[in-house]
Amino acid sequence: IERTFSIIKPDAVRRNLIGKIIARFEENGLRPIAMKKIHMSRQQAEGFYAVHKDRPFYGELVEQMSASPVVVQVLEGENAILKNREVMGATNPENAAEGTIRKDFALSVGENSVHGSDAPETAAEEIKFFFNDDELV
Ligand code: ATP
Ligand code: MG
Repeated sequence: IERTFSIIKPDAVRRNLIGKIIARFEENGLRPIAMKKIHMSRQQAEGFYAVHKDRPFYGELVEQMSASPVVVQVLEGENAILKNREVMGATNPENAAEGTIRKDFALSVGENSVHGSDAPETAAEEIKFFFNDDELV
């Protein structure tokens, strides 16, 4: 059993898609073991995406992620990290497979509705960034 970190991004929260997206996770064997709705500060978004700070889209990404509320979650399941990335689909919705969250809901590569950890080390770091151990139930 594995844990991964997920964000339902501002574009999806604004369009009232929280429930539809959580249903996709549950239907695919990913169990939310922690969740909260938060409005990230600019500083938090900068810290969370620090690995991308030299990429051309960093400013836009930080701006979008701190513009309005998000839902942060820890998802647990067999191969949760890979499974979540399959359920999300490709970063750019134009390349996302049929039936994926990004294919069905994303607006663009920037406003792509969800974030998911890409490896065990980043999953552990990202979970710690937003949750204390006693919040994982
Ligand atoms: P995430 O980390 O959000 O799950 P990812 O691993 O598929 O997505 P990354 O390469 O880590 O993609 O990029 C992080 C985020 O930065 C993407 O989800 C997207 O919102 C944004 N992003 C990536 N590439 C671009 C781009 N070319 N233009 C605008 N935004 C981008
Ligand atoms: Mg990534």
